Amino acid sequence: MSGLPSSLANAPLRVVDGFGMAVRAACRCLAPRDAGELAELLARATREGMSVAFRGSGRSYGDPAINASGLVIDTTGMNRILSWDPTTGVVDVEPGVTIEGLWRRTLPDGFWPAVVPGTMAPTLAGCAAMNVHGKNNFKVGPTGDHVLEFDLAAPDGRTYTCSRDQNEDVFHAAIGGFGALGAFTRLRLRLKHVESGLLEVEAIRNRTLEEAFDIFEQRLPAADYLVGWIDGTASGRSLGRGVIHQANYLTADRDPEGPAKTLRIARQDLPSTILGFPRSLVWHFMAPFMTAPGLWWLNTAKYFASYLSRPGRKYLQSHAAFAFLLDYVPNWRLAYGRAGFIQYQPFVPHGAARRVFREILERCRARGTPPYLVVLKRHRPDPFLLTHGLDGWSLAMDFPARQREQLWALCHELTEIVVAAGGKFYFAKDAVLRPTDVERAFGRDRLDRFFAVKRRLDPQGLIRSDLMRRVLPA
Ligand SMILES: Cc1cc2nc3c(=O)[nH]c(=O)nc-3n(C[C@H](O)[C@H](O)[C@H](O)COP(=O)(O)OP(=O)(O)OC[C@H]3O[C@@H](n4cnc5c(N)ncnc54)[C@H](O)[C@@H]3O)c2cc1C
Repeated sequence: MSGLPSSLANAPLRVVDGFGMAVRAACRCLAPRDAGELAELLARATREGMSVAFRGSGRSYGDPAINASGLVIDTTGMNRILSWDPTTGVVDVEPGVTIEGLWRRTLPDGFWPAVVPGTMAPTLAGCAAMNVHGKNNFKVGPTGDHVLEFDLAAPDGRTYTCSRDQNEDVFHAAIGGFGALGAFTRLRLRLKHVESGLLEVEAIRNRTLEEAFDIFEQRLPAADYLVGWIDGTASGRSLGRGVIHQANYLTADRDPEGPAKTLRIARQDLPSTILGFPRSLVWHFMAPFMTAPGLWWLNTAKYFASYLSRPGRKYLQSHAAFAFLLDYVPNWRLAYGRAGFIQYQPFVPHGAARRVFREILERCRARGTPPYLVVLKRHRPDPFLLTHGLDGWSLAMDFPARQREQLWALCHELTEIVVAAGGKFYFAKDAVLRPTDVERAFGRDRLDRFFAVKRRLDPQGLIRSDLMRRVLPA
């Protein structure tokens, strides 16, 4: 950040969107280079009475990193790895280090981030602020479970060093607290030791939703990663059909190429072409399929393609290739067109999930709004105050936002089903929730405890993103 404007109201004005592009706003934007500049910005915003929201790589689908009436502080420029200990797997990073930046540094030493989302673009601050989960959430918990300590610069002018032993209330509120309490300026994490750069992967077809749950339950005890793709266009007896992928870490002795080779960064790089086309062009070919009939063809083809592979066949895939499938096609979100799309991801307790997800898929069908991409995952509870984690399941669904009113109405209907079942939601994947939904899903008590911490660290309520205005109005 070279030179602050005379007033923050004169900071550059930019259109800032959620990853789904269905929500956007013009915001004043500044990008500090270090913790000192960030603290100065917070102090200036306090003096000028300008609201603030923090932003990482902007990979949240909705509005948590947008601030329509104020300043967006982008921390992606604070991206140094401060220290790395390859004997313990403990790393200290600035907030803007991305998942990609992290594994590129640590994998050659045999360490992979314990939790990664479906894209490698997010920053570690963004992952901590949302308490991101991976395809191994049932086994290792979310990002927060692997954070040992962090520094949080708060609007009260103090920097809080937080861990399970120090400022533990702030520790448990800021992880998953969508940046509402202050800015992460340093995070310390423990990474997962891996013996090989490869995973052993198996695809398992499920003909129905019930079968998907059954396969998950059989495989969970022995799986390192488990994720289900569901055909959102299928109905009747095929409702919920799809393909589940199980992946397991490979031990060094079973790595056919040898760890010295597979732990190299070059072995992780995603292919530069898909079916002979440069990756960067592929989203153009996807655009014509982004209609209900187009999607039906795509999903049906994907499902029946699974019959081509022999049941039980296992294959090897690099960590990056397995984890970051959604990064294969850069800019794929543009295929949705100008109206963009939303992701809606309810989390439902174990005992109710089979019934609730069936009802949700049937309701989408009844309203003529099939989800374009549907992903099933198993989760476990964690100790963070506003966590979406629970002993249950989630169903992430992408919907094009072309018919906005109908879509929002459908999501409100689905929210009623989820809340009645004791479910929760995930703020990184939300654009539709209302204050009453959030209060019923998370409980008044948790919200009150969260706001007690917020009042202490941010007495003037300086930090206000569009998400907060929408779901947690003061
Ligand atoms: C293709 C795709 C796949 C995904 N897959 C998954 C998945 O499998 N699992 C999952 O859990 N999520 C997933 N996500 C969501 C994504 O991981 C989260 O939204 C994550 O928070 C994005 O990080 P970011 O750096 O882009 O942060 P942003 O989206 O820019 O911001 C997210 C939050 O972090 C806060 N924040 C950012 N920087 C700071 C800071 N320095 N201090 C305090 N707060 C800060 C912001 O205020 C905001 O509330 C996926 C997203 C995409 C686009």
